[in-house]
Amino acid sequence: MSKTLIRGAKVLGGAAQDVLIDGETIAEVGTGVEAGDATVVEAEGRILLPGLVDLHTHLREPGREDSETVLTGTRAAASGGYTAVFAMANTFPVADTAGVVEQVWRLGREHGYCDVQPIGAVTVGLEGKKLAELGAMHDSAAAVTVFSDDGKCVDDAVIMRRALEYVKAFGGVVAQHAQEPRLTEGAQMNEGVVSAELGLGGWPAVAEESIIARDVLLAEHVGSRVHICHLSTAGSVAIVRWAKSRGIDVTAEVTPHHLLLTDELVRSYNPVYKVNPPLRTERDVMALREALADGTIDIVATDHAPHPHEDKDCEWAAAAMGMVGLETALSVVQHTMVDTGLLTWEGVADRMSHKPARIGRAEGHGRPVSAGEPANLTLLDPAYRGTVDPAGFASRSRNTPYEGRELPGRVTHTFLRGRATLMDGKLA
Ligand SMILES: [Zn+2]
Repeated sequence: MSKTLIRGAKVLGGAAQDVLIDGETIAEVGTGVEAGDATVVEAEGRILLPGLVDLHTHLREPGREDSETVLTGTRAAASGGYTAVFAMANTFPVADTAGVVEQVWRLGREHGYCDVQPIGAVTVGLEGKKLAELGAMHDSAAAVTVFSDDGKCVDDAVIMRRALEYVKAFGGVVAQHAQEPRLTEGAQMNEGVVSAELGLGGWPAVAEESIIARDVLLAEHVGSRVHICHLSTAGSVAIVRWAKSRGIDVTAEVTPHHLLLTDELVRSYNPVYKVNPPLRTERDVMALREALADGTIDIVATDHAPHPHEDKDCEWAAAAMGMVGLETALSVVQHTMVDTGLLTWEGVADRMSHKPARIGRAEGHGRPVSAGEPANLTLLDPAYRGTVDPAGFASRSRNTPYEGRELPGRVTHTFLRGRATLMDGKLA
C-alpha cells in the first residue's frame, strides 16, 4: 500500500498540520508526523479540504461525446479538486432507466478520476408527462437517490407531487430546475433593464420564483425533500429562507457564475455568457453571496455544461446555453466568498463538500479530515494568481466565461481514496 505525507497544510484553513495517507485512508493528522517511506508533499501555505463534491455536472455521455465524455469530464473534475460528481440525466438516450444509469455509473468506475453518481430523470424522456422508473434506478447498481429533469422543469404539479411522494419512500430527493416554461418562451436573457435596451426576449425572475414557491409547499404537503437547482434571484433566496424558517425540508444550490457575473455582460453579445438560468443583476449576485454565507443556500454546484465550439460560435439567439465550470469553481468561490470575507475555508468545505455529499448521499465523501476517514482530499494554493486559459482545460469543451480573467487560487493535488488523481497540477 502506498503512503503519502502532506506536510504543513492548513487543514480547513486552520493550523498547519501533517496528514499521513496510508492506502485508501487518512492514517494520522498532527504535527511532526514521521514520513518514513511515504511520498512527501510539501504543502506549507496551502489549504487542505475534503474532496469537493459537485451535485450538478453534465458529463454528456452517452450521446454528446463531442462535447464531453465521462473520462474527460471526470479529468476536469479532478483538475478542479472534485472527488465525486453527480451526472445529470439529460443525455441521449435520457438516463431514465436502470440500464442507462448503470452504464454511466460503470464508465465512472472504469475511468477512476472521480466517483460518478448518476442522477435519474424524473419523467420518461424528460417530457414531464409520465414518471420514469425511479424505484428501478434506485435499486440498480447505480443506487440513484437524486432525480432531476434538469434542463427542463417538472412543471406539472401532479407529476411533481407524485415524484416527491415516490422518492420519500427511500430517502431520495427531487432536484428541480425551477423555470415556469410558459413564462420563458423565447427567452434569451434575464428580463430587466438590459434586455429592454438590447431588445432581447426576457426571462423574468418570477418564472423561477413561482416554481420554487409551489415546490416548497408541495414538499411540505407531502413531507418529502426537495432540492432547488442553480437558484439565481434575490426573490428565490427570500422564498427558500421563508421555507426553511417554516421547517420545510428544502435545500438549494448556487453556481459559481451566478456568484460573479451579471447580465451587463450580455451587451457584448458573446454567447459564452448565455446560460440557463440567465445571468442576473448585481443585486441578485449580492443576495446570492449573502445567502450562501448565511446557509440559506446550502451548496455551490457547478452546472458544468460543456458545448462544442460550433454550438457557441454563432449569433446570440442560436447559441447553446451553458458554461463549463468544474475547473474554475473553487477559484470563483475563493474570489467571491473567501477573499471578500463572507466565508471561511471551513465554510467552503461545508458548501462544496460536506453538504453536497449529504444531500446526494455520496458515501465516503464530505467527511472530516481526520484519522480513519477515506482519503478524499483537495489541496490548493490560495496565493496563486493566474489568468484563465481554456487551452489548458482537461474538459473536452472550452466554453468558459472566464477566459483571460485573473482568478485567485489553484488546486495542486486531488486524492481519491488515497490515490493522487492530480499531482502538482498535473493529472495522474
Ligand atoms: Zn438546469
